[in-house]
Amino acid sequence: MSRLSNLQWIQMAMVVCLVALSLGCGGTGAEESPDPSDPASEAAAKAPRPEFALAIHGGAGVISKDMEPEKIAEYEAALERALAHGRDRLAEGAAALDVVEEVVVLLEDDPLFNAGKGAVFTHDGRNELDAAIMDGRDLSCGAVARVTTIKNPIRLARGVMEQSKHVFMVGDGAEAFADGLGLERVESDYYFTQRRYDSLQKAIEKEKQAEEHGDQHGTVGCVAMDKDGNLAAATSTGGMTNKRFGRIGDVPVIGAGTYANNETVAVSCTGRGEEFIRHNVAHSVSAMMEHKGSSLQEAAKAVIHGKLAKDDGGLIAVGADGSIALVFNSSGMFRGAADSSGRFEVAIWE
Ligand code: ASP
Repeated sequence: MSRLSNLQWIQMAMVVCLVALSLGCGGTGAEESPDPSDPASEAAAKAPRPEFALAIHGGAGVISKDMEPEKIAEYEAALERALAHGRDRLAEGAAALDVVEEVVVLLEDDPLFNAGKGAVFTHDGRNELDAAIMDGRDLSCGAVARVTTIKNPIRLARGVMEQSKHVFMVGDGAEAFADGLGLERVESDYYFTQRRYDSLQKAIEKEKQAEEHGDQHGTVGCVAMDKDGNLAAATSTGGMTNKRFGRIGDVPVIGAGTYANNETVAVSCTGRGEEFIRHNVAHSVSAMMEHKGSSLQEAAKAVIHGKLAKDDGGLIAVGADGSIALVFNSSGMFRGAADSSGRFEVAIWE
């Protein structure tokens, strides 16, 4: 066999390199290969559409990494319980709208979170709760704000959506409407938790804690895509510790803290409500996807990192393709994600 000339050797080496690159087995290809375990990965967004998907949050903010291991375990267990409930219901074929409501009820009943039972205190030592729910099928939505005796404000938000001609009810009026629906009411001391009360005392002492968004995280939310491809979002909160003057945050403001549209995405936010209202965060993600053709990950990152300031908070979202985004610019966000591929994860910090 004749020996190969130098030129032939070079040609052969080039062919081998080209084949290797086209198979994606070069160094660069491996870095770009899909990593479905990384929710922020663009590649994850390109994975085949799951049958169903959901994400939950239990608030974003300054979450100290010095938290005792038992407390971390408590949070993780609570998130896992809520996530497992949502996943199982979606697997059975339940509607996204029912699932987001049920998951938020579970989180509202858990004193760990700043919603329902564990709501933070206002400056006057009261608990004023806000919640919203939205159905991506037809943009129907319902919201309530400043309710003080409703055990599960998310149920009342759904009542407003389905049983009234309106989308947003506040205070006494919302509570009178709740009576007509037969929803459970509680005495205001139902919401008393020592931890949130101490938090208020600290905030009053310092008077600047509200701006620092200290130990008041814990707003809850859930977004889901069901087996029919329908999207829904639900969010519930006690608001910000030490809030005054009838302050209402982003959560019940449709498009700010809560939004769902089958054409694009379902979003639930958490953080400094005023900033989320100013930047119309939840709807901005949807608008970028609709008008700019951005992927869910691109849109969520652009809004959370590009529009908001550091430590403002974050969002969870499920796209119409079943992709999930969990994006925040604070030190942590209690969160979880699950889908029909077997993905099931909860996390607190980066
Ligand atoms: N966004 C909520 C509010 O401003 C608070 C939070 O998510 O921590 O009312």
